[in-house]
Amino acid sequence: MGSRAVIEKHFRHIRTGLFVAWALISAFVVGLSVHAAQEQALSDVMQKAGETLAVQTEILSGVLDKYRLLPPLLSRQSSIRALFVRDAGGNAQTVDARRTAEEIAAMSAAMDVAFFFPDGSLLANARGSSVTSSQDLPDLIEVARQGRLGRAALSYGEGQRTYAFSSGVRREGRFVGVVIVYVDFYRVEAAWALSARRIFVTDRTDTVFLANDPEWRLQPISALREPGRSDRYLINGGFEDRLDLVRRLPLLEWDLHVLADPAPVDAARFSAAAMATLACLLAGLIALVALRRNEVAIIRARADRATALRLERVVRDRTRALSVTNRSLSHEVEVRREAEARLRKTQDELVQTAKLAALGQMSTALSHEYNQPLAAIRSYADNALRFLDRGLTSEVAGNLTRINGLVERMAELSRTLLSFSRKPGATVGPVPLGTIIDEALMLARPRARAAGIASIQVGPDVPGLYVEGGRVRLGQVFVNLINNAVDVLSGQPGGRIDIDARREADRVVVTVCDNGPGIAPEQVPKVFDPFFTTKGIGEGIGIGLSIADNIIRDFGGTITAGNRPEGGACFTITLRAADAPEPAGVRRMEPLAEDGAG
Ligand code: ADP
Repeated sequence: MGSRAVIEKHFRHIRTGLFVAWALISAFVVGLSVHAAQEQALSDVMQKAGETLAVQTEILSGVLDKYRLLPPLLSRQSSIRALFVRDAGGNAQTVDARRTAEEIAAMSAAMDVAFFFPDGSLLANARGSSVTSSQDLPDLIEVARQGRLGRAALSYGEGQRTYAFSSGVRREGRFVGVVIVYVDFYRVEAAWALSARRIFVTDRTDTVFLANDPEWRLQPISALREPGRSDRYLINGGFEDRLDLVRRLPLLEWDLHVLADPAPVDAARFSAAAMATLACLLAGLIALVALRRNEVAIIRARADRATALRLERVVRDRTRALSVTNRSLSHEVEVRREAEARLRKTQDELVQTAKLAALGQMSTALSHEYNQPLAAIRSYADNALRFLDRGLTSEVAGNLTRINGLVERMAELSRTLLSFSRKPGATVGPVPLGTIIDEALMLARPRARAAGIASIQVGPDVPGLYVEGGRVRLGQVFVNLINNAVDVLSGQPGGRIDIDARREADRVVVTVCDNGPGIAPEQVPKVFDPFFTTKGIGEGIGIGLSIADNIIRDFGGTITAGNRPEGGACFTITLRAADAPEPAGVRRMEPLAEDGAG
């Protein structure tokens, strides 16, 4: 199983766990929000309905209190008391009584005001309404007779309702009649009708006595409720949920009801539930997205790490392979270096060999070069002895000076030979071209002379030029070139060798030319090949020019072979020019003693 699958499984578990937790928390949050919203809305509804209830209770109590006080006040008035008389014929003062009743009704806005005799017969009433003949009349008269305030809720005619307060009229301690005031509820119900809520009054028998809905008036409350439910009322032809707020009016034993519509509570519950659910869903969604992102990030990180590890492994493998290659390369380099060292050593040996070969060539001439001054020294010495015998000291001195000069020449030649035959150094530096050519000529001239070379010319610019090179090795190159020229000119009358040099920018071009037969054109490219020679056996081995080419190349220069138009071979050497070194005090210079500047 891949690490990705493991991570995904892990996250699946987390998701399941989180989902369960989320569901529980969401249920709790939604429940709590709904409950809180319901409480809030309910308290709002109750508060508003409660306010209505309080106000309407006050109004109703106020109205009833006003009319309650009216009959006792009226019954004590003498003008009223005076109305309750009958003449001998049994006739009463009906006209006066009616006028008085009308005045009182108009002033108090009562529904009616009536005067009765104790036997129940009507003296007069204000409005002439039929309420005066209600069946509760005997009760009202009886209670008044006892000196108490009579009262009764009355209904009459087409749904007409009133409340009657009665009080007894006494004259000289005798009960002569009753004053009854009928309360008008029209204004109260009209005020209630403005309210959207149901407002009603139930009496002791649970019958609706007053209500702002005309349909409800005089209906038993049980007829207005859904059977078996006390919280559902008949509203506009159907049953609806209502909250019943009740306040008791103790005087009348009435209950004033206000029905509040609980719809806002339901709406608040619903909207709270919806909001809470939405919030929970959103939170769940955010959590889900965050979790998913986390998962993706972890999977990516794992994948990155795997890639990095793979890369690391590849790099390690490559590095290992490379270091193996490196080792074998450095081994190869070592082998090459050794081979090169061997080659250099062989080359050095070859240089030495070529030098010795040149020396061999020159040895006859050189030994002749020594014999000649030796013979001269001997004859100078013999003559000096003879001059001494004769006492000619000044001649003796002359001869000794000559001997001295010859010895000096031999010593210089010997020094030159010695340093020429030494193994050269490997350093490269500024060297004086003129001196080197002079020393080469010192070694080569005896042989040239023996070969009958007419002249060896050195150009006038040569002495002042300096080149980058090694003294001994450069001397060897010139000895070789001169010896080759001597070889081809040997025995030829008028043979001459011209050595010249000139500076061209940062280079010095040296030419060594002769007027011999020249080099056959097809052999020009081959003359620098090792062991190429046109000479007979024992005369040449063909390494002179090859060594010269190597030496000049070591100095960063070139050597080419060619023929002059007027005949004869011409070798051209190009070397890096050097500046004349600062004169280093009075140091005595050993000729050809070592490489580099002297
Ligand atoms: P070696 O002198 O032993 O033959 P070198 O390498 O010095 O070897 O010379 C190679 C050949 O170049 C000579 O054999 C000769 O044929 C040719 N050569 C060299 N110098 C001259 C010259 N000045 N004139 C004509 N040919 C020359």
